[in-house]
Amino acid sequence: MRERVPLLDLASEVEFLWEPLQGAIQEVLRSGQFILGPEVDALEREVAAYLGVRHAVALNSGTDALVIALRALGVGPGDEVITTPFTFFATAEAISHVGASPVFVDIEPDTFALDPDLAEAAVTPRTRAIIPVHLFGHAADMDRLGDLARAHDLHVVEDVAQAFGGRFHGRMLGTLGDFGAFSFFPSKNLGAYGDGGLLATDDAALAEAARMLRAHGSRRKYYNEVVGYNSRLDALQAAILRVKLPHLDEWNRRRCEAAAYYREILADLPGVVLPAVRPGVDHVYHQYTIRIPNGRRDAVQQALAGRGIGTMVYYPVPLHQLPVYRHMNLSLPAAEAAAREVLSLPMGPFLRREQQDEVAAALRQALW
Ligand SMILES: *Cc1c(COP(=O)(O)O)cnc(C)c1O
Repeated sequence: MRERVPLLDLASEVEFLWEPLQGAIQEVLRSGQFILGPEVDALEREVAAYLGVRHAVALNSGTDALVIALRALGVGPGDEVITTPFTFFATAEAISHVGASPVFVDIEPDTFALDPDLAEAAVTPRTRAIIPVHLFGHAADMDRLGDLARAHDLHVVEDVAQAFGGRFHGRMLGTLGDFGAFSFFPSKNLGAYGDGGLLATDDAALAEAARMLRAHGSRRKYYNEVVGYNSRLDALQAAILRVKLPHLDEWNRRRCEAAAYYREILADLPGVVLPAVRPGVDHVYHQYTIRIPNGRRDAVQQALAGRGIGTMVYYPVPLHQLPVYRHMNLSLPAAEAAAREVLSLPMGPFLRREQQDEVAAALRQALW
């Protein structure tokens, strides 16, 4: 059965952009230039202008963006990197990949973001960097995390995979640390139709290091200077992203409208916690994630699925409880509670009010 209300409606987006996508794709096919090249250069310029940063470096994925950011900053074996356990695995995987140790710190229950007090308490002489994640499109507390980083001379890599276009006190997310690491995974607010990622930075030397690392550690072809990666964005994805970028603000605005409508129609649902927005945060609702306590979440999800409503649990297992990191034997109660209770509802720029009404009716019935 085709879902009546999909979690994310990419089909409508593709249909809406069909003509310009065709034109952009055909132009790349005719150009014969498929990896990096003028389309990727143009995307980098346009994203840098959109964010208001000096440099944008387009990569293969958001995961590579995190790895390459850490490598460019010289983070490696023996170093500790503070991050959240309530995120997609890639955030911590990148830390482990460069040989450093992830240090998981519990989250603020209302925003699901890294708790700055606990982050402060986790700093040791080996701490080199901190990776805040703007989860679901809501900014982490970059004022307090920025203060903490300055006080202890730590690098900051923002994981902006879920928050392209979001702001913190008027400032663009992804421009507040040494690097902003973006993902163009198809489901993200600015998604390609394949894998892609990008690093944003104001620092010319860091940008150059990232460019070198994405091309096998070479500035000049066949003159490799360090061991790098094959992490170049391809021209087709860049062309597709250039068609979509001009729509991003409008689409994020529509996500906010959908969130406001959810808030209205779900306000009186007993026992459901709706997403919080901190003052000064422009949320971009990558996900609209509610909490259903008292062990009822999974049953509610099943009931919604039975009515053709797509939902997802981001994330069912906090990273410190995954087989990879279980040996750390950590207890992080806020993240563990979130993993038990969260449910992300259908969201996106093409979500219609009637569909949201269906979601609300199904939730009401499931919770009765
Ligand atoms: C999607 C995502 C990533 C990884 O991005 P990819 O492009 O899929 O490699 C990293 N961190 C977070 C929080 C994400 O949501």
